[in-house]
Amino acid sequence: MKTDKGTVFERLSPPPRLLMGPGPITAYPRVLQAMSHQLIGQYDPAMTEYMNQTMALYRQIFKTDNSATLLVDGTARAGIEAVLVSLIEPGDTVLVPIFGRFGHLLAEIAERAGAHVVSFEVEWGTVVPDSMIENAIIQHRPKLLALVQGDTSTTMLQPLENIGEICQKHGVLFYSDATASIVGNEFETDAWQLDAVSVGLQKCLGGPSGSAPVTLSEQAVAHIRARKHIEAGIRVDSHEFGQASRIRSNYFDLGMILDYWGEERLNHHTEATSMLFAARECAQLNLEEGLDAVIARHRRAGQAMASGLTAMGLALFGDQNHKMHNVVGVVIPPNVNGEAIRSAMLQQFNIEIGTSFGPLHGKIWRIGTMGYNARLDTVLSTLLALEALLLQAGVPIKSGAAYQCALATYNEGA
Ligand SMILES: *Cc1c(COP(=O)(O)O)cnc(C)c1O
Repeated sequence: MKTDKGTVFERLSPPPRLLMGPGPITAYPRVLQAMSHQLIGQYDPAMTEYMNQTMALYRQIFKTDNSATLLVDGTARAGIEAVLVSLIEPGDTVLVPIFGRFGHLLAEIAERAGAHVVSFEVEWGTVVPDSMIENAIIQHRPKLLALVQGDTSTTMLQPLENIGEICQKHGVLFYSDATASIVGNEFETDAWQLDAVSVGLQKCLGGPSGSAPVTLSEQAVAHIRARKHIEAGIRVDSHEFGQASRIRSNYFDLGMILDYWGEERLNHHTEATSMLFAARECAQLNLEEGLDAVIARHRRAGQAMASGLTAMGLALFGDQNHKMHNVVGVVIPPNVNGEAIRSAMLQQFNIEIGTSFGPLHGKIWRIGTMGYNARLDTVLSTLLALEALLLQAGVPIKSGAAYQCALATYNEGA
């Protein structure tokens, strides 16, 4: 629209999509409502109280007593970067076992933080055996182990429950990126002896991307405090600097972010108020439902989706014993144009499913059942749309079987 004041566009009116990919997913309506509240000031007692509540809520989501539990403003990657740049001093050895795209991301961010990165990769669609991790720790003596829990690129869920003990035994800090898996699968920060965990909102937590909840053990905080540096302009005489090297990012300096979220309320960035409202509402919704019930709902919807796809005659990708509950990889049948089907799903049915990266590109679709969309109706609509398009494309699939099988599996899972 051209007016005499310049060029403007139509008012926002995004299409009503059903997001059934590997994330982002359709947000819980209550989260969107929470974000629409009017702003309040950064040090308004109402605001600092909401910050404290958000910390308390995420301690429960992460299953931890860590007082250092807060939000990093930015997408999940900001949480990863904050943890790695704050814990890694240039020259430190960091071990990164890789079983998908996000392992490569951890390695890349650790390298940029100056680490000497030791990594090894297992075949995509499998997970890393505990013994392989322990052997690499013995051989390379890293300061930190960085390990993804759920890698959406392959849909695999890395078992973490024994890794913390191995790290403890060898004096290694243990960090996990649980963005894709948290609240869709079991996760235990304290029981599994993790030193640092970061996540994002746009997977099973059911919000938009843009806020990264992080939790840090006392030991991780001690490493960060040893690097304490307060910027000039807000620094006072009583501030003492740490002996270790200054953290190389200002924005992601978790020590300064801790002082902002802590009692000192030392000014750092301006907390992204609307995203804090979103993050608080995501945690609140999941805790109201109960974490066990939320995980069970993801398991049930995920099983129904997987059984419907199998009943249609499609093959699932990867080791199904180590699949995340909330996302499934489906092998694109031979002679089918995967992108054309995905595009028709979107254009004709308003349903988005995922493509894939790297070695899996063009080979699998990824279908998520996460957060608000971990439900029977979304599973059935997605299966029926896919069935219709595959039949239309001449793929010999069993018509009607997906609906019956998914429904039966869902009801058995009750
Ligand atoms: C989806 C996902 C992310 C997302 O990172 P963003 O910065 O929010 O895009 C990070 N890590 C893992 C393991 C993921 O699955």
